[in-house]
Amino acid sequence: MDDCLFCKIIKGEIPSTKVYEDELCYAFNDIAPTAPVHFLVIPKEHITSAAEITPENSAVVGHIFEVIAKLSKEMGMTEGFRVVSNCGDCAGQTVKHLHFHVLSGREFTWPAG
Ligand code: AMP
Ligand code: ZN
Repeated sequence: MDDCLFCKIIKGEIPSTKVYEDELCYAFNDIAPTAPVHFLVIPKEHITSAAEITPENSAVVGHIFEVIAKLSKEMGMTEGFRVVSNCGDCAGQTVKHLHFHVLSGREFTWPAG
């Protein structure tokens, strides 16, 4: 997607602080963190949102959660963490490329606003 911010980040056209990368996904620090640890994990394939996950592209979602589990151990997120994917305007999705926020380092309330 030529005008997608996160596709541009994957291609290195927009700078980011990399946390992790492999052939299927890319993880980088959120530019406006809302917790001491706040990074985003995105598929390298452009998928617009969680509403566009299909049998053909869903494997990357399982892979991303494996990566998150691995990173949580490596980064010492032993007290817990939150994974969030906002989907659609009402949920506050501002970038239309599927992404999973990983937040840690403070306590979180539930239900989320
Ligand atoms: P959402 O609002 O759920 O779509 O999440 C989009 C996230 O992308 C927000 O938390 C933004 O702070 C973050 N973001 C926007 N632009 C950048 C960027 N250039 N680098 C890193 N994170 C970004
Ligand atoms: Zn994209």
